[in-house]
Order: sequence, then structure tokens, then C-alpha cells
Amino acid sequence: MSLKPWLLPVWDTLRMRIDAQRFPHALLLTGAIGLGKRELAAALVARLLCTTPRSDGFACDLCRGCRLRTAGTHPDRVTVTLEPRDDGKLRTEVIIDQIRALGERFASRPSFGGWQVVAIDPADRMNVSAANALLKTLEEPSANTALILVADDPARLPATIRSRCQRIELRPPDPATARAWLIGQGIVATAVDEALLLADGNPGAAKSMLDADAGRMIDALISDMNDAALGSSLVAIAARWGEQDCDILFKVLARLVLLAMRASAQTQALPRVAAMTRLTAQADFRKLQVWWDHLNLARARLPTPLRKDLAIIELLDEWRAAMTAGAA
Ligand SMILES: [Zn+2]
Repeated sequence: MSLKPWLLPVWDTLRMRIDAQRFPHALLLTGAIGLGKRELAAALVARLLCTTPRSDGFACDLCRGCRLRTAGTHPDRVTVTLEPRDDGKLRTEVIIDQIRALGERFASRPSFGGWQVVAIDPADRMNVSAANALLKTLEEPSANTALILVADDPARLPATIRSRCQRIELRPPDPATARAWLIGQGIVATAVDEALLLADGNPGAAKSMLDADAGRMIDALISDMNDAALGSSLVAIAARWGEQDCDILFKVLARLVLLAMRASAQTQALPRVAAMTRLTAQADFRKLQVWWDHLNLARARLPTPLRKDLAIIELLDEWRAAMTAGAA
């Protein structure tokens, strides 16, 4: 096992705390998707269950603890995650029964005399009663138990839980590390800088965007925005957008507008951002910002039941108004 290079400093800190018997009772791992928090959590779980770790601190993958872990039958390891409902569909929340079962586990001693390791992922999907039940566990920590919470959106966790966890927030690495890693993944150097800019310096997210051929999607988006501003049918564009994952689409749009706003203050811009800036040439910074607010509002409303196509048409209409007002 190994980790992405930017995870190694935090890994070293945490594994030394395991060696020193000072591993936190509850650890909360946060940071943007793509930075590797789940990878780090898996390495920690493996290390805690391994009886003969390697010199670099990683689990040996050979001992009895490691073999039971890889077989999925280690008695001291619990994973709490979203489970299927009776109808087979995945629940959208972690529920109280799952956390209660955890409390019962904590009441018994570890089977192998080592650590009892519990990972809750996604911890930010615990519903209110589940979170309250977990709070009780956090208030009465049992010895040799390690609770690892993984959350994409830690703000959704109650403050009472956050305050009882040691929080590790992963951040994007320095640009040189990010570039070197992406090139090591086989990405051509010319595509790396743009992808990192669009992904806000997050190498894992940049890789996902490149894998999903996001460049093509962005080109299509920009062309649609241009058409909308020039008077094309908004209904047709909305129908096209509605077929896509709107969460991703709005996120990419928000990022593009943000970069266009920044680019209006700087001269240097990458080709796609430059296209966005050309597109917004008639609009000033303030108009872009107003539209950016509209976009974020629409994004926040996405999970609520609404006519998606209407929301998109409204947004495109606001965009057209922003692009044409004052252009004469
Ligand atoms: Zn081992």
C-alpha cells in the first residue's frame, strides 16, 4: 500500500501517533473530493488492525489481522455507510439503528486485544437521531477504539460532533506536486495546467475531469452560453442541459464564471477561460458576480423538488439579460 505524495506528511504524523499510543479516539477527515481522504482512512484502518506493520508504517498485508481485513471478516473492524433499504435502493442517510449497533460493539472488548476500528463514511449523512446517538459514544470513549469519520461536507455535521473529533482537513498540494502527479498518471503536460485551474488545484478532481473528457463538456457549455446570449432558443439548451448531471454542470459553470471574473482582472488566461472571457466581454465584473449569485442559488435548490428545465431556462434568461444589458 502507498498513498498519493501529498498525503504522506499527514500520514506520517498520524502513524507516529499510533506508534506512540496517542491516536485520537475520534478522527474527522475532511477535504474536497479527489484529495484522497478515503484512501487515507483505509490506510489508517489497515495500519490499526495490522500486528506487524512495515517500517514505513503501512500495514504488512501478510499478518493474520491484515488477512482477516482483506477478507472482510476482521471482528474488530466496523464500517458504517449508506445501506440498502428493503426495496433494494440505497438509503440517503445513515440511521440511528446503525449507530446503536456501534454502541453495542464498543461495549465489548476488542477480540484480538488490539484496536477496535470503526469508520463512518459518509459521516455527514448521519440523520439527526443517528448523530445524537453517536454523540453519546463520543462522550464516553472506550479504550482502544478508533473512530474515523469521513465527511465531504463537514458543515452538515452537528457542531457538537465536530468539536469532539480531532479534525484533519486535506488541502490541495503545491502546484509542482500536483503537476508531477498528474503527469505521472499519464496526462499530457499541455492539458495539466488547464485541468488544475478548473479543479482549483485539486489533482484528483483534475484527473476525474480529464478522465470524463470534461473539456468537451465545457466547450459545449460555453457554446450554449454564447448561443443563449445571442438569442437562441433557451428551451432547446435547457433540454440538453437537463439530460446531464446538473450538480456537476452547475459546479463547472460556477468555476468558469469565477475564473472569468478573475481573468477580467488579470491578463493571463488559459484557452477555455479565455473563451469564457471573450463570451463575457460585454459584461462587467459586477454583472458576472450577480449572475454567479443566481447560479449558486439555483445550485442550492437542485436537491429540492423543482422543474429542472424551468430553473435552467430562468438561469439562461438571466444570463442573456446580463450579457445584453448596457451592451448598446
Ligand atoms: Zn499486517
